[in-house]
Amino acid sequence: MNQSQGRREDGSRIGYEMLEFRPEWQFDDPKTGAYYHSAVIPGKLFFTSLGGDIQTETVQNTIPFIERVFADGMLENCEYIRIADYSEVTKASINARILYAGTINRLNTSYNSHPTVTYICGASHLLKTMLRIFSRVVKQPFVYVDSVEEAFQNLNSDSVSAVPAPSDDVVVSRREIDNFAAMCGNILFGKKDGNHGAGDYLAPDHPLNELYKIIMVFHDDLLELQKKEVEQKQEIEFALEDARKLNEKLIEEKQNVEKKEQVQLRLINRLKRARMQAESANKAKSEFLANISHEIRTPLHAVIGMTELLIETKLDKDQRYYTDTLYSSAKMLLMLINDILDFSRIDAGHIDEEKSTFNLRQLFLDIIAIMKEKASYKGLVLVGNVDEGIPETLSGYAEYIKQVLLNLIQNAIKFTYRGQVTVTAKVVSETGEQVVIKMSVQDTGIGIPEEQQEQIFQPFTQIDASSTRKEGGTGLGLAIVRKLVNLMGGEIRLKSNEREGSTFSFSLVFDKTRDEPDHAVASCKEGQIVRDLNNVSGKTLEKKLVLLVEDNTINQKVARAMLEKMGYTIDIAFNGAEAVEALQQKKYGLVLMDLQMPVMDGYEATKVIRSSGKVLDSEIPIIAMTANASKEDRQQCLDAGMDDYVPKPVERKVMQNMLQRWLPLPDDR
Ligand code: ADP
Repeated sequence: MNQSQGRREDGSRIGYEMLEFRPEWQFDDPKTGAYYHSAVIPGKLFFTSLGGDIQTETVQNTIPFIERVFADGMLENCEYIRIADYSEVTKASINARILYAGTINRLNTSYNSHPTVTYICGASHLLKTMLRIFSRVVKQPFVYVDSVEEAFQNLNSDSVSAVPAPSDDVVVSRREIDNFAAMCGNILFGKKDGNHGAGDYLAPDHPLNELYKIIMVFHDDLLELQKKEVEQKQEIEFALEDARKLNEKLIEEKQNVEKKEQVQLRLINRLKRARMQAESANKAKSEFLANISHEIRTPLHAVIGMTELLIETKLDKDQRYYTDTLYSSAKMLLMLINDILDFSRIDAGHIDEEKSTFNLRQLFLDIIAIMKEKASYKGLVLVGNVDEGIPETLSGYAEYIKQVLLNLIQNAIKFTYRGQVTVTAKVVSETGEQVVIKMSVQDTGIGIPEEQQEQIFQPFTQIDASSTRKEGGTGLGLAIVRKLVNLMGGEIRLKSNEREGSTFSFSLVFDKTRDEPDHAVASCKEGQIVRDLNNVSGKTLEKKLVLLVEDNTINQKVARAMLEKMGYTIDIAFNGAEAVEALQQKKYGLVLMDLQMPVMDGYEATKVIRSSGKVLDSEIPIIAMTANASKEDRQQCLDAGMDDYVPKPVERKVMQNMLQRWLPLPDDR
């Protein structure tokens, strides 16, 4: 070590009194009593003094004060003498020492300054030994002195002897090494004691004591670290415990939510079941209604049929009045029954129609033509307003549309006393595949009060006004209309002002199609199925003889009276088997076939008749009489081999048309 570095080159003396202490460079820790004091002779000397228990935290608090000295430009771009006073240090951890030395090193580098020599004042043996370790790292010479004064003396004198040179040669005996090992063992086994310890084994000035003390410091630091680790572990455990509790709460919450969901699900299921029950109850009700109205239709059919015959007999004035009333009442009743049957079937979810290809424009024009007569009879004008842009062929429910329009137009005529009824069909929008068409029936009639505009769509509801009552009706028409429009995917709307008139409208989406219109539907007026008529020609001899196959005696009587009145001769069979027998013995011109009969029903009988060789004429026209005029029933009749059908109860006019078609009387031709 070159001791001359401490001396003044110009020979001038440097003294303690030359030091400048600024308050901003001093740190006193009120908590621990530790301190860091510093002073400088700018550009020449850096004096620091540490005292108390120096822990890492203390050094951390000190750093800004050390930095301040350098930042104030006191030790910039220079070589300086450093005096470090440790005489008041009671304890210092290794980490604290490393941080302190590291900070000063860092600042030296940043401010391009460098201590030529460092005087260590009042350092313990231990500190000295440690500094020896650090001097290798910081690469600067240390001079150990007892006090600050000695440091100043030393740096002002030329004497080299003032610097105690540590002896390099130390002789250690085997026994001393054993003692040292025993001392270290005490530390390991936790018997470390400041008072005893080293002194029990080695003389106080023995060099191995220095090593022992260093090991003690390392050991203390290690214990501190272990303690901290335990604390940290505990903190982690607390945090984990908190997390676990939170997790439990979350699980509980989740279970609660799941329970709630289950309750909800059960409620939904219960609701679904209740709805299903309600729906099936409604269906049962509708089916009951459908059945009962069907049963009522049979005797009613007899009443109407017989009344029709009665009207054509010779009657006096009173009798004619009675029979006319009887006839119109029976017709009214039949209308009601038919409406109930219709409504019940739709309400029970029966869709009798299938989509077919048809010409909507033509359908409109036909309906307008039919209703024109009724309108002009009342002095009204029926105006048709049919968009020419409506595509030729569309796919939809032609029969339902017909039923809806007839209903609306009939109502419009019924509740209008002057002015006109306008029927409109207009294209609203169109794509390549589909077209939306708005249809409306507008009248200049009595109108409907706003509060009753929703009500009138309910079944059996009529506005309780004398004018309405006067007109009669079942109160089911609009309920059926609404259901049919819904069924086709639309919604019926009403705009009406009292005494100004009403407009009923709905829009439907149709698929465009290039198929030919389905003629069975388009020309199916009054329920007839058109078949090749050629095969009924040339049967002049037997054509007046009709075989009626029917098990119900009232129906037998009505049909017989009706047909005989028209000029036909009638034989009656009570069931299919009897019919086959009759056809084996006699040649008939036509068979009127009921469907549901005991022993052998109409379908089976037809099959037997049609199989060749079973009867005299296996190609005889067979006309079904069916109460359920659905498309399926009609198809079933055709499949069984029948030629046509008439709906029951059979009306005279319908029957006459049918017979004229299949078994014309000579006068009719
Ligand atoms: P109804 O067989 O009685 O006509 P609807 O269901 O068709 O049964 O009609 C229900 C009631 O709505 C009618 O009785 C009538 O009071 C009223 N109504 C229906 N259409 C019209 C209309 N165009 N103008 C005025 N009132 C109407």
